[in-house]
Parts: sequence; C-alpha cells; structure tokens
Amino acid sequence: MTLALVTGASRGIGRATAIKLAQQGYRVAVNYRQRAEEAQQVVAQIREQGGEAFAVQADIADEAQVVALFQRLDQESMPLAVLVNNAGILFTQCRVEEISAERLQRVFATNVTGTFLCCREAVKRMGKHHGGAGGAIINVSSAASRLGAAGEYVDYAASKGAMDSLTKGLSLEVAAQGIRVNSVRPGFIYTDMHADGGEPGRVDRVAATAGVIPMGRGGEAEEVAEAIVWLASEAASYITGTFIDAAGGR
Ligand code: NAD
Repeated sequence: MTLALVTGASRGIGRATAIKLAQQGYRVAVNYRQRAEEAQQVVAQIREQGGEAFAVQADIADEAQVVALFQRLDQESMPLAVLVNNAGILFTQCRVEEISAERLQRVFATNVTGTFLCCREAVKRMGKHHGGAGGAIINVSSAASRLGAAGEYVDYAASKGAMDSLTKGLSLEVAAQGIRVNSVRPGFIYTDMHADGGEPGRVDRVAATAGVIPMGRGGEAEEVAEAIVWLASEAASYITGTFIDAAGGR
C-alpha cells in the first residue's frame, strides 16, 4: 500500500478525490485547515467503504505547518505516492481596482506558496535522487487561469496561472526522478467555494446563461475527481506536464 495526500479534503473536490483515491487502494491523508469534524466524516466514510484514511490538520499557507504535515506522513510505514494540491481560496467578487495587498497576499499564500511548499516536501520524498520511488503530483488549478475571471476575482485567476507555470516547470525538473506533475483545471463545479465568493448560486446562474458553458450545465466534484485519480494512476504513466480541462467545454 502507498500513501496519497489530498490538501483541503474536508469538502468539495478534495473530499470527492480522497474518497476515490481510497477506492483505488491508497491510504489517504485527508488534510484540512479548520473543519475537523467534516474531515473526520470523510475518514469515516472511507473506512465504511473498507478503505484506509486519517485526517491531518495543517494550514498549507504556513511553512512550519506544511513541514509538520509531511513529517506526520513520514510516521506511516509506507511511501508517499500521490500528492493532490487541491486546497485553494478565493474572496468576494470584485474588480482589480478594489483589491487590497492584504487580500492578494492571502490568496497567493495558499494557492501559490502553499502549493509550492507541498510540492517541495513531496519531491524530497518521492524523487529518486532522494532515495524515493517516484510518484505523481496533481495540481488543482482552474479554467480561470486561461479565462481571467474578469469582474470576479482576477487575483484568484492569476494565482492559478502561477500554479500552471509551477506544474510545467516542476514537471520538467523532476521527470527524470520518476515524478509526474500534472494539473486538472475545473470550470464551474457545484461546491461551497462559490458562497465564499459571495454568490452561492453562481454555477446555476452561469449554467442558465446561453453559451457560457458549452455543455449547458455545471459540473460535479466527482467528475473532477475522476480526472485527478486517472492522472495519479499508472494508466497515465507516460503523461507529465499536462493539463486536463474539466470545464464542460469552456
Ligand atoms: P472548497 O472551498 O469546498 O474546497 C477548498 C478546500 O481547501 C476547503 O476545504 C478549504 O478549507 C481548503 N483550504 C483553503 N485554504 C487552505 C489552507 N491554507 N490550508 C489547508 N486547506 C485549505 O472548494 P472546491 O470547489 O472543492 O475547490 C477545490 C479546488 O478546486 C480549489 O483549488 C479551487 O480553486 C479549485 N476550483 C474549483 C472550482 C469550482 O467551481 N468549484 C473551479 C475551478 C477550480
């Protein structure tokens, strides 16, 4: 058995991914920042299905907490094979002319710095040059990195753009070390994230607007998780540095 770490896995896409990875036979580390009870519910659901999981608290925007998170994984008697950088944040919809430096720093601290730090710690454990057995990293970016999220959260879109550069650059750095680095870029997915942006009904609004989503509907967290789990699997063994757009054609 090998380990899979999913950051921000107490709800939404991270939760769906943790459950599917456990079904594939990984022992899953369910990282959460604040919602301990929801993370424990994800662990309980995995165990009810016969899988293995445990919850680990860490704010990935904090370097010391990221280091402690990976040290917790080192206590397991199995190697880390998969890292899913799923944790991400956005704030209330606004225009660039209204964005404060503090907001920018918070968005980038989680979405960019946090993802970088988790990649760093994973490479130290997976890389053949570090005595590791290789592995797979999947960064959950966003269609916003291509589209810009104008009038909503250009800061968030730009942070996802930075994640895309990380995916490409790191994939080249570690390809010879047995680590594949890929990305899934979701479009409009039914999760609680949209409430954080100030519009809980955002996906339904957009889905009802002709032409915005070519497939005419929002996506489910499970549909994104399927792509993540596939990129993590041996079925994707010759694939690195790539992006799967899970966005209904958008
Ligand atoms: P979500 O808000 O339900 O999940 C994000 C999770 O990350 C939350 O559980 C949150 O607590 C956690 N998190 C945030 N900051 C963290 C930190 N510093 N440390 C640890 N955990 C932290 O939203 P979701 O839709 O499931 O989002 C998952 C990923 O998918 C995010 O990276 C998001 O940007 C991306 N995404 C979502 C959509 C969508 O339409 N829902 C679209 C494109 C991309």
